[in-house]
Amino acid sequence: MTDIFDNTILCNKCNTKMQKAQLVKNNFVFRVMICPKCNEKIIHPLDKEEYNKFVNLKNKEFHVKMRLVGNSYAVSIPKEIVSFMKEQEKIMDDMVRLCFEDMGRLSLNFKNEDKLNKKLKE
Ligand SMILES: [Zn+2]
Repeated sequence: MTDIFDNTILCNKCNTKMQKAQLVKNNFVFRVMICPKCNEKIIHPLDKEEYNKFVNLKNKEFHVKMRLVGNSYAVSIPKEIVSFMKEQEKIMDDMVRLCFEDMGRLSLNFKNEDKLNKKLKE
């Protein structure tokens, strides 16, 4: 599949050849084209779309039931969240870190920091 950012893109403000770069916002990595002369940016349309999906999911509240399984309680994570994270390759392991963050609040951490850092360095 060819990527539109593999084409030569000229800045619509100053006509300079734009360069590929990455932009991180809310832990989300965007592919961007940046004009080295005037700093004009174009965000990759696919990444923009994915980000919108992410924002929609982020603000969505799910009501899930707790079930007693042996001596533990199990909560099901909605499939649309897991599928989205898998698509984004944010899940690299099936082990997650669970933390009793605050009264009435549990957090689940799907990111394997070591693997993620390694990936960013590559
Ligand atoms: Zn420019």
